Amino acid sequence: ASGYSLLRNPHHNKGLAFTEKERDHHYLRGLLPPAVVSQDLQVKKLMANIRQYTVPLQKYMAMMDLQERNEKLFYKLLMDNVEELLPVVYTPTVGEACQKYGGILRRPQGLFISLNEKGKILEVLKNWPEKNIQVIVVTDGERILGLGDLGCQGMGIPVGKLSLYTALGGVRPSACLPVTIDVGTNNQKLLDDEFYIGLRQKRATGQEYAELIHEFMCAVKQNYGEKVLVQFEDFANHNAFDLLARYGTTHLVFNDDIQGTASVVLAGLISALNLVGGTLAEHTFLFLGAGEAGTGIAELIALEMSKQTQAPLEETRKKIWLVDSKGLIVSSRMDSLQHFKKPWAHEHEPIKNLVDAVKAIKPTVLIGSSGVGRTFTKEVVEAMASFNEKPIILALSNPTSQSECTAEEAYTWSEGRAIFASGSPFDPVEYNGKVFVPGQSNNAYIFPGFGLGLIISGAIRVHDDMLLAASEALAKQATQENFDKGMIYPPFSNIRKISAHIAANVAAKAYELGLATRLPQPENLVEYAENCMYSPAYRSFR
Ligand code: NAP
Ligand code: MN
Repeated sequence: ASGYSLLRNPHHNKGLAFTEKERDHHYLRGLLPPAVVSQDLQVKKLMANIRQYTVPLQKYMAMMDLQERNEKLFYKLLMDNVEELLPVVYTPTVGEACQKYGGILRRPQGLFISLNEKGKILEVLKNWPEKNIQVIVVTDGERILGLGDLGCQGMGIPVGKLSLYTALGGVRPSACLPVTIDVGTNNQKLLDDEFYIGLRQKRATGQEYAELIHEFMCAVKQNYGEKVLVQFEDFANHNAFDLLARYGTTHLVFNDDIQGTASVVLAGLISALNLVGGTLAEHTFLFLGAGEAGTGIAELIALEMSKQTQAPLEETRKKIWLVDSKGLIVSSRMDSLQHFKKPWAHEHEPIKNLVDAVKAIKPTVLIGSSGVGRTFTKEVVEAMASFNEKPIILALSNPTSQSECTAEEAYTWSEGRAIFASGSPFDPVEYNGKVFVPGQSNNAYIFPGFGLGLIISGAIRVHDDMLLAASEALAKQATQENFDKGMIYPPFSNIRKISAHIAANVAAKAYELGLATRLPQPENLVEYAENCMYSPAYRSFR
């Protein structure tokens, strides 16, 4: 290949980091200015560039350009500056990027599979240049973050999630495949937008929808084998639970919104017990939002309580209450409830709003998973603080605009007593002379390590016990030093180590359950996971 095309190949390009020898051997002479620089210097220069942009979307575009130009440098930058760049390539900025995707799109990333490709999905997969795919993140764009139906423009999410699979979990970028399934959109604004990039029709539903998904799932298994992980992301809940149930027995599937979120929140709660005391079963939980995230978390908490206390799930579920758009979920509503809400319909008077539910249930833990911002009002937080010495308050909804409350509100309204974490990041808050560092309760802590664990063990199915294993591993990584600052999660700057521990614990569980196919089992799974991780260091060309 010519030097010219080498410089334009993002997998191999090193820019000014090509050495004199490489410039000689690969026909690069004259195509680069004389300076030869190190990767570290390139990182330094790019960070200085990115910090100059004041508009988050400009930072996002600069990062996407870099990914297209020099993949290793993109990952090196992201890994070396993870706390600073996570909010750029992931929530909250990725949300804005999806909203404006049609306008900012340059070279499309990922695979677009629309109703037009029906009957040809296997051929479409073969158009993708990489053959050895280990992880697919797929969305249909119907519930992008808390922003609703963004149709085809949801592609930003699989792309962003997979860049975290590599940067945080060490999965090779060439083994990652972002997919958007476009069955139309019910977002009228997009349908009316002349720059909209997707199918210009209302969403297909029912059999037409199911058939396209089924063709995709079959094609994926046929083309990549049984061990490819399919992560469902940001599907609406009327499809998400059914897809997970339908394909959970035939494919290696994982729903990040239901399962990944559950695992990260459970981990946060386990470590929060260090600050508030008691066991999980001694706490009472109230959720605002009873969809994928809410009921997924609730179920995993109930499962863990049941393992700890030997009490049946039907019993442990009774410590957990959920509020949806119609109020507290109670048994008198049973007939009209969606199936995933039914286990949570306990005996109680109907209650319409959150504040009254808080006052009646007196939860020790309040979790926001509604996708609606500003719903943890002053009255709600004050009520939590009135009967809890240290109320645990998690505002999980993304992006920042949808957060149930801000970190500052949680600390101020609770007079500095809240243990707070949020789905999108908030800066540290000073209250009464003390600095509180809010944790980020986001499934980004879990899915990269979880996926790596499945890959290194050659797992063929996901099991709930693996989610518990991931929670346990994450909770163990939080230290007293973190707790002292009010953090229930370790900082993202340690994420590679955290992911290796999660991967090892998940893999160990896969072996234990007989779901692992990579035999024999490596002796030291943490070490093995670390050794399997992708490195963004340049390789030398001979
Ligand atoms: P979902 O399945 O659509 O569920 C949303 C739930 O919120 C539904 O039960 C809905 O009630 C309820 N709701 C909506 N408006 C409400 C209101 N005004 N008052 C009370 N309840 C209301 O969505 P999801 O997948 O669970 O996601 C929800 C949010 O969580 C999103 O913002 C998402 O970004 C966030 N999330 C965060 C993470 C993380 O890692 N931090 C992970 C996943 C999701 P009905 O059922 O009555 O309609
Ligand atoms: Mn999601």
